[in-house]
Amino acid sequence: MKKWLDLIDQLYHKTDLDRESWLTLIGARRYMADEDRRHLKELAVRRSQATYGKDIYLRGLIEFSNCCKNNCLYCGIRRDNMRIHRYRLSEEEIVRCAKSGWDLGFRTVVLQSGEDQAYTDDEICRIVAAIKAAHPDMAVTLSLGEKDHASYQAYFDAGADRYLLRHETANEVHYGKLHPPELSMRHRMACLYDLKEIGYQIGAGFMVGSPYQTDQCYADDFAFLKKLAPHMIGIGPFIPHHETPFRAFPAGTLEDTLFFISLLRLAFPKALIPATTALGTIHPLGREMGIKAGANVAMPNLSPRGVRKDYLLYDGKICTGDEAAECHRYLERRMEGLGYRVVRARGDYAGWQRGCS
Ligand code: SAH
Repeated sequence: MKKWLDLIDQLYHKTDLDRESWLTLIGARRYMADEDRRHLKELAVRRSQATYGKDIYLRGLIEFSNCCKNNCLYCGIRRDNMRIHRYRLSEEEIVRCAKSGWDLGFRTVVLQSGEDQAYTDDEICRIVAAIKAAHPDMAVTLSLGEKDHASYQAYFDAGADRYLLRHETANEVHYGKLHPPELSMRHRMACLYDLKEIGYQIGAGFMVGSPYQTDQCYADDFAFLKKLAPHMIGIGPFIPHHETPFRAFPAGTLEDTLFFISLLRLAFPKALIPATTALGTIHPLGREMGIKAGANVAMPNLSPRGVRKDYLLYDGKICTGDEAAECHRYLERRMEGLGYRVVRARGDYAGWQRGCS
């Protein structure tokens, strides 16, 4: 029997491996036969369904500002990109977007932006509180980047439920190659621990196939995620953006991304794992394939139509087709076609209760 098949079964039963086994399994993706990949996906789907059944949760994504003080080398909305139309939605616009999400049946909204210092903590708190006052049964997720503990605490006290902050890579050398020197992996990880301690459901994650990424980097990601134990894990392929220093690097592949979604599902049986927009960008059926590899969340775009094209993190980002929130009936049908059902529920981490993590 092939060694990696043993390791997959071991991961299925024990949800973790020693480092050497992780490296063997991670490396095996380069020469795995199609039937072995299928086996891995089947185990991952079984794992996912054991906790969440055939339910797929929706998150309405509101990209409320593309202004950013950071200069991440991979990201299209980085500070030094001068060929971009910058925008900011007002408090009223954001709250209105959330309402349209509610009317469409969403029970989670994700407010995401660049690291934009124009919004004060008070403003963010007002926005969160206004959404919660209008829709007490809707979960509010924030994804605003790195902030200090007091800011995170204030948003939480205003009613925010969850926070997405991908760690991007858990390998310090790799982190240094993806980011400018003023950003540090340690600080980003410290933010994730702060968020968890405050009481958020937290989401971490990384890009697949980013420049300079090695199998060691992925092994570090799994080791870090095991330590952090996040409630949500978002991964997607790296896709180059023409106005960044990484414009000439190749994109991460569909198969690698699906492979890592399945490994994440086996290592984190209860995690909420999205089939991301980036996955839907590199292949028209990418998100369906993500679900069939063990993901259980979809994140349609709820931003006002006029700004969607400006939140361009990478080239070709899908933003006007059926990934859009107002077309989610179509998405629903696509998921139903796979034997899943899209549910109108907050989609919290299994067993979650605010205040007792
Ligand atoms: N400012 C927020 C939101 C960042 S954008 C924060 O710091 O968390 C959300 C995610 O998009 C990032 O965490 C990154 O993993 C991903 N992303 C950015 N550029 C990308 C690219 N070129 N290809 C694929 N994913 C990218």
